[in-house]
Amino acid sequence: MELRGKIWIDGKIFDFDDGKIHILAHALHYGTACFEGIHSYEAKKGVGIFRLKEHISRLYESAKVLGMQLRYSQGEIKKTIKKLIKINKIKDGYIRPLAFYGFGSLDVYPKNIKPSIAIIALPCSSEIKKPMRLMTSSYKRINPDASKFGAKISGFYANSVMAMREARQKGYDEALMLDSSGFVAEGPSHNVFMVKNGRIITSDSKSILPGITRLSLMELGRDLGYNVSEQKIYLDEIKTADEVFYCGTLSETIPIVQIDNAKIGNAKIGKITGILRKEFQKIVRGENKKYKKWLEYV
Ligand code: PMP
Repeated sequence: MELRGKIWIDGKIFDFDDGKIHILAHALHYGTACFEGIHSYEAKKGVGIFRLKEHISRLYESAKVLGMQLRYSQGEIKKTIKKLIKINKIKDGYIRPLAFYGFGSLDVYPKNIKPSIAIIALPCSSEIKKPMRLMTSSYKRINPDASKFGAKISGFYANSVMAMREARQKGYDEALMLDSSGFVAEGPSHNVFMVKNGRIITSDSKSILPGITRLSLMELGRDLGYNVSEQKIYLDEIKTADEVFYCGTLSETIPIVQIDNAKIGNAKIGKITGILRKEFQKIVRGENKKYKKWLEYV
């Protein structure tokens, strides 16, 4: 990802190096921010943003969980994202809207702090992601009782950071996180799927972020005629799967070829993972009319 371009904060546009906040920003101390990661693509009819409506709607749901009354409507934020994509001359890009409690109080309760909202839009390369090796994390995914299901809140990512760090230190690419009951949940920033006997299965856990890519791949898989389900997945089951892959907005799909000491498949992308990846690519490039509603053009 190239770190450049203009940044929009609360209605004003700043040069990249001037996109700053105060050291006393509440979000910096207490994690009281929420965000989205959105992918834009150079598509058939121009620059298309993948499932923009769903991302913005999830941002506003997360903001609600933090008690934020955002000063712009969802429509205004969508318009601003499109404007910033044009200003920054982005084709394949990563867009990061961030709503946060800024400067105003050191109390844990963000009394009288008007939430801010920022938008960052960066060019990114859409290279095919290489297979990864996972380590089962000793850190459990945050229990849903500690939050609200589906909220993408910055503070919770400290849990992801710890899991990622542990996995990298042990020489793996990423972590696989379990929920507090010991079932497979997700990665620090990806959802997980496995393929067993031709069936596509994703984890059914209240500890995951129900990703937009996950939802899209489930629909795509069903449309392609596969049996797709959400199930409780035991660690032993995923380790003996025929294929495993991670998915998320930026990376789309990433084949997983090892979990701890267990090898998955033959160290290459699995057959069904490959089919989903190829079909997904057509969708995001605007080459499959059936899913044109998933792309909003700039
Ligand atoms: N889980 C976590 C914890 C994530 O951070 C992400 C990335 N947003 C995902 C799953 C995948 O979600 P999406 O497909 O909506 O990007």
